[in-house]
Formats: sequence, C-alpha cells, structure tokens
Amino acid sequence: MNAEIIAVGTELLMGQITNTNAQYLSRRLADLGIRVLYHSVVGDNPQRLSDSLALALSRTDVVIMTGGLGPTRDDLTKETVAAAFGLPLILNEEVHGQIAAFFRKINRDMVESNAKQAYLPAGSTIIPNRNGTAPGCIIRKDGKIVALFPGPPKEMIPMFEDTLFPWFEQMTNQVLASRMLRVFGIGESMMEDKILDLIEAQSNPTIAPYVGDGDVVVRVTASARTRPEAEALLDPCVLAIGERLGDFIYTTDGTPMEEVVGHLLMMRNLKISVAESCTGGLIAAKLVNVSGISAVFERSYVVYADSAKKGELGVSATTLERYGAVSPETALEMAEGLQKKTGCDVAVAVTGIAGPEGGTPGKPVGLVYVAVKMQSGVVCREFRMNGNRERIRTVTALHALDMVRRTLLALPD
Ligand code: ATP
Ligand code: MG
Repeated sequence: MNAEIIAVGTELLMGQITNTNAQYLSRRLADLGIRVLYHSVVGDNPQRLSDSLALALSRTDVVIMTGGLGPTRDDLTKETVAAAFGLPLILNEEVHGQIAAFFRKINRDMVESNAKQAYLPAGSTIIPNRNGTAPGCIIRKDGKIVALFPGPPKEMIPMFEDTLFPWFEQMTNQVLASRMLRVFGIGESMMEDKILDLIEAQSNPTIAPYVGDGDVVVRVTASARTRPEAEALLDPCVLAIGERLGDFIYTTDGTPMEEVVGHLLMMRNLKISVAESCTGGLIAAKLVNVSGISAVFERSYVVYADSAKKGELGVSATTLERYGAVSPETALEMAEGLQKKTGCDVAVAVTGIAGPEGGTPGKPVGLVYVAVKMQSGVVCREFRMNGNRERIRTVTALHALDMVRRTLLALPD
C-alpha cells in the first residue's frame, strides 16, 4: 500500500506554520509499512484542492488530508472531496448532538457555521474528535481510501491514533509494537555511529533515530501477527541498543527527562530546589510538568542578576568579582546557598551565557556551569554548547536534570 499526504491551508504556503502533520503521519505510516510517496501542500482554494486530490488519487492508494475541516468559509476540504467523489453531504444527528454538547460544555452558543461540521459525505466512516468540534471521516471508493482530519495537531494526532492507525493495522493484518528510547548526553552522529550496524542489519524490528527537543529519540518498531509476538521481537533489539548506549538512554518508553527525574526523587523521597540564571525558570517549569511533583518540589529561584545571586543565595561579592557570574565557583556557591536557604536534599544551580551577546574569547556564548549538591557531595560540570539562545537554554535544562538523574542513580539503594 502507498500513500500521499495532502496538507491544506494557505497559512502553510505562506510560511506561517510548519507542516508538522505531514511529518507525524509519515513517521507513523512508515511504522505500518505503508510507503508515503508524496507530500503535497495546497491553499484554501477549491479548484486547486480538487486538482491536488485528483492527482493524488491517480498515483496512490491512500490519501490523507489534514486541515480545512473547521466551521469557517475558507474551510472547504470536506465539501471539495465530497464533490470530487459525487457524494452528497448528509446531516449526521449524532455528530450534531456532540457539537452542541461541546458548546454547552465551554459555555458558548453554537452558531450556524458550526452545524456545517455535522454534515458528512454519504457513506463515509466518521472519526470522532474528542478535542475539538470538527469530526474527520474516511471515504472508501473504487479501491481508494481518503481520510480527512482537522488541522490542529492536538486534534489530528489522537484521532489518527484511535481510528486510522488500528484500522490500517488490521488491514495490513499485522500488529505493531514500538519502544521509544530517549538518549541524552551524546550527539546524534556519535550515537548513530555506535548503533549503525544494528540499524543496518535490522528489518524487523526497524530502528529509526531522529532528533528530539535537545535529545535524540530512537524508535524501535516491530511488526508481527500478535502483540506478544511483536513485543518479543522488541526485547532483544532494545537490549542490544542498551548495551551500546548504556546510561545515555534515560527511558525506553518515551517518558520525558523531567518525569524520569521526578519519579527518582519521589521514589527516594528527596526534595529538590533549583537556582536558575541563564535558564530563567525553565528547569522549574519542566519539573512542574510532572504530576505529583509537589511531594518533592517546593520552591526555586530565578537569580539572573549578580545582586540576586548575592541577595537570595549569599554568593560572595569576592567570588563574583574574581571569577565572574559564569564560573564553577559561582555555580557551587549558588548550590550551597540554595541548600542552606531551602533545606532541600538536592540543590541544583545553573549559570551560563545563552547569547547571542555577552560572550568573550575566554567565556564564549554557550559556556554553562551546572552544580548539583547533595548531602553526599557536590558535582559541578562545565558545558560548551552551540546553537541559539533557545537551544542553549533547552539543552542546559536537560543537562541539569540529567546530572540529577545520574547522581540519584549512583546513590546506594
Ligand atoms: P479548525 O477547526 O481549527 O479551523 P481546520 O481543520 O479547519 O481546523 P485549519 O483551519 O486548516 O484546520 O488549521 C487550523 C490550525 O491547525 C492552524 O492554524 C495550525 O495551527 C494547525 N495546522 C493546520 N495544518 C497543519 C499542519 N499541516 N501541520 C501543523 N499544524 C497544522
Ligand atoms: Mg480552519
């Protein structure tokens, strides 16, 4: 089976948004063994939209379209596809009721244009939308499959995962199981180097590395007739990758770093606090992503200026003058002061230069110090990163959390 993805939206053509839907769907279709042959992007224009659809149907079996299912006048994907197949749009009472209920829930009046979303091509299979009002649908005709999804990823992804993905699994008569290994502290190319032979030797499971948000993700996917069989294929492969990458792998089930760290803290009942300079609260913000974190996370500080480092944490003026705010000495004193002030078990301090300004030959942009202090001792590491301000901040937050993770894992049980 092969497929084409058509993303609909003038915003995409104008560069206002990135076509992440195509990327997501491609990845998942690849997992299913469905070959994606084309990506198209077309604006909100009925003629060009129906031309794109006709072209896609002439060259692939499955066409997945995203966007343009909303209530407004420029949303015309469904109308165009229905017309192309010669299918009338029919009011679906159940969908109409769901949309009305959605508006009651958010305490707003349902306007006539919303009712438009309850009209669906005759004979199509409806894909319910739990996170918005526009349902999707699947049309099967003349051996072709066309699936329509709304544009917002937070609506499209769960709809795809709940309906089309399992549907394809059944059609292809195979079950897919996958593990999402997340790797941090090793560059993507070095990581790939270490597992390249495994990647090349495998066909089932497949091993697909890709760049994550400051980390690297390795998705391992196996297909088999049953789920237990697929899972059984995964185990040895994940084990082999684990032997190569060791504790650079921080999770095998896709859990974000902050959650891994949060659970380690909760398991050991250790309280954490953070003093952040260049990350400006990013580490704290990540920690509060974790549900239940209040058991171990009470407070943290953004100490951006020297005066704040002195005033809040008692970093000495001499240290700041002699070594500068971005120095191991300052990071260590921040961690010490933080632990004294909060009485926490794990004190994390971060100071660095996120750029683009403020670098010097001796202390370039991307120079960061992270100190982690516990009763058992203190570690301070220097990092030299590249990238823009946002990336430096993201990766710094990950380094800080990863240092905590490694410190906690090294503790005796
Ligand atoms: P809505 O009911 O929200 O109008 P829709 O199905 O009509 O949904 P669009 O109007 O085309 O979808 O897009 C709505 C929003 O969804 C866009 O502003 C954008 O944020 C997101 N979006 C649309 N298409 C894509 C895409 N291909 N990749 C990523 N995001 C997208
Ligand atoms: Mg819209």
